[in-house]
Amino acid sequence: MNRTDHLARISGRHFQVLVIGGGITGAGIAWDCALRGLTVALLERSDFGAGTSGVSSKMVHAGLRYMVNDPGLVSEAAVERQRMFWACPHLTRPVEFLLPAYPDTPEYNAETLPQILARYDRLAGDALTAAHGWLSDEQAHRLVPGLRSGALRVGSYWDGVMDDSRVTLAVIRSAVKHGAAVANHAEVTSFLTDGKGRVRGARFRDRAPGAGRAEHEVTADAVVSAAGPYTDLLLALDGAGPQEPAIRPSKGMHLVFRKPITSGRALVIPIGGNVLYFLVPWYRDYLIMGTTDTDYPVRDYSALDRIPVLEEEIRYNLQLLQRVLPGCFRAEDILACYSGVRPLVRPQGASAPKQSESDTSRTHRIWRTDSGIWAIAGGKFTTFRLMAEQLTDQVAADLAARGLARGPSACTTAERRYFGAPERHEYPDGIGSWIRDTAAQLQRRTGLDEECCRHLAEAYGTEAGKVAELARSDPRLGERLASDRPFIRAEILYAVREEMCVTLADFLSRRSPLRFLDHQGMDVARKAASQMAGFLGWDEAELNAQIESYEGGLSWVPV
Ligand SMILES: Cc1cc2nc3c(=O)[nH]c(=O)nc-3n(C[C@H](O)[C@H](O)[C@H](O)COP(=O)(O)OP(=O)(O)OC[C@H]3O[C@@H](n4cnc5c(N)ncnc54)[C@H](O)[C@@H]3O)c2cc1C
Repeated sequence: MNRTDHLARISGRHFQVLVIGGGITGAGIAWDCALRGLTVALLERSDFGAGTSGVSSKMVHAGLRYMVNDPGLVSEAAVERQRMFWACPHLTRPVEFLLPAYPDTPEYNAETLPQILARYDRLAGDALTAAHGWLSDEQAHRLVPGLRSGALRVGSYWDGVMDDSRVTLAVIRSAVKHGAAVANHAEVTSFLTDGKGRVRGARFRDRAPGAGRAEHEVTADAVVSAAGPYTDLLLALDGAGPQEPAIRPSKGMHLVFRKPITSGRALVIPIGGNVLYFLVPWYRDYLIMGTTDTDYPVRDYSALDRIPVLEEEIRYNLQLLQRVLPGCFRAEDILACYSGVRPLVRPQGASAPKQSESDTSRTHRIWRTDSGIWAIAGGKFTTFRLMAEQLTDQVAADLAARGLARGPSACTTAERRYFGAPERHEYPDGIGSWIRDTAAQLQRRTGLDEECCRHLAEAYGTEAGKVAELARSDPRLGERLASDRPFIRAEILYAVREEMCVTLADFLSRRSPLRFLDHQGMDVARKAASQMAGFLGWDEAELNAQIESYEGGLSWVPV
């Protein structure tokens, strides 16, 4: 994926569909459009997945707590969860979730918990990873020794975890494989309209380092907004005057620890009402804890460029952890923290009922603005494919009705694997053995250590060999960036050449998970930036600016 080539394919050209927003929703739409034979371009203001899609709780889930308000969403999400496990097995995996019911969480007590878990299974229907079960207090303590005693019951059910940024990138690359033209760091700044005020394209600014903020234009038969929490800001650029806000932005904050104390399980923390927090195993022996759900006003882009982590949020999350794992976590144990903003759909109309943040529906909405922009927002990461299918159905039908496309063709994304995923026949004994075998082969071929090879197989799937080959041809590229984490220099070169990585944050936050691990990646920032400087031709001033900008985007835990 060469950015210069893609930009040249987009600038000054006409497409059937222009997608604005390179989060998981926009990526899914571009992929679906490309597979249906539509010409499609995608513009992303920052980096692919740099909005909400790279800062989720990283769960592939049907959504236990959405059973109260959105049972339909739970059923849909269960089907999509299973599809995602199948379509992207190296970047997602099923995980057992343990849910302890204590006397002080009345909504999840000994009587209700069996009903809740049975209903969760029922809503999934055939799309079940495994049926729910029960653990005795003793079994639960064997798995999670620090678990607070006195649980009335401990339920067990199955959802999953993922590398959200790399899944987003895999879907972008799937779109590109089928003909989409895409550009990150390309911000739509205004719309092109015809004489009647109908949107016919967009002006965009190249924000990549060294691009001098050059302006470009692109036209399209259909323009799609997939701008997540930025939706109202983007749609306001159509000049059609004030519109009722479509989004209720809601902030969620996470803490990251390196504490292998849950035997690889996730833990659910009911805190009263219909609110659940999760402690999710992530990347080897790390745990992610989250998340809050609080209204977060978005008046301009700066509110979303730096989403703060507040001291009181950290204190609150630590207190919640004490409820299930007393004495196990202290502020000093926090390795990283991050926030994201949910693009929840705002109930429309003056008579819409007032709801708390956590009760606001997670379902998605597709609509068309007065200026003709197709817009989509809401939903979950897990349901992105279905959202994209529904939007693309409508856009394709409209284009066909206007004589601008052949008849609407059927969606095929449900049967497709994402870029980099091995085919099912390649791992008859399960994805775990494919990863082990691939890692062993890479090790034999390159001499890289076992942990690095395993990491390459997990992160890059069928592309792992290309990264390893770079390290074989130049041993300096086989060096680790940090001795206690398995990321190697070759990944930077691969990211720059093949994954449209153009800033330090692109690499540390999304091509690799370093931003979410020890020191939030700051201990390797200079090393990584120096190497990128060599590949991308940065001078000393640009190199320092990249480090400063990356550091400025981090939140630090006050201890
Ligand atoms: C704290 C939190 C935890 C979550 N946890 C989970 C979870 O565990 N599992 C799950 O399934 N879902 C989860 N979600 C929900 C999920 O992350 C979101 O529904 C999903 O990522 C939204 O994707 P999106 O593509 O619609 O939005 P985004 O990822 O925000 O993408 C929108 C993109 O549009 C771009 N854009 C905006 N304006 C412009 C412009 N002018 N020009 C070009 N580009 C523009 C932005 O830069 C951005 O990248 C969570 C959400 C949050 C906030």
